[in-house]
Amino acid sequence: MFKKYLSMFREDMRYAMERRCGQDELNNFIMLIGFVFVMIALFSHKWVFVLLGFAFVLVCYLRVFSKNLDARRKENDLYMRYMGKTVEFSNYVKLVVKMYIRSLKDKEYMYFVCSNCKQVIRLPKGKNKVSVRCPKCSSTYVKRT
Ligand SMILES: [Zn+2]
Repeated sequence: MFKKYLSMFREDMRYAMERRCGQDELNNFIMLIGFVFVMIALFSHKWVFVLLGFAFVLVCYLRVFSKNLDARRKENDLYMRYMGKTVEFSNYVKLVVKMYIRSLKDKEYMYFVCSNCKQVIRLPKGKNKVSVRCPKCSSTYVKRT
């Protein structure tokens, strides 16, 4: 009996993945809120935040496995219409931070992100001030390496 449900669950999962329903931007956001609530719960020791956190995670899973793809896509489109710029900006910040950490680890090169087109540009270290041109959009920068 249990095995039957498990295989049904697997089928559902494969179905969801095949149809590319999966994870969208709205779900990333819902997951983030759920995570924040769980963190608050950890610090405040209030169970209500645990419940809130799991409620958000549950909504996220329901959306992933939903078969009503049009409705889910509409929700995501609506979200992106209002939050598109914010999502873009947070992705940009994430990339900048990632490249900054990579620059710290790398002894020979430093990495920075073109603020115009988000292209990652690699520069050899220890050249003092250099002017660089983005290979993708031709914006020029003066960088200290
Ligand atoms: Zn560029």
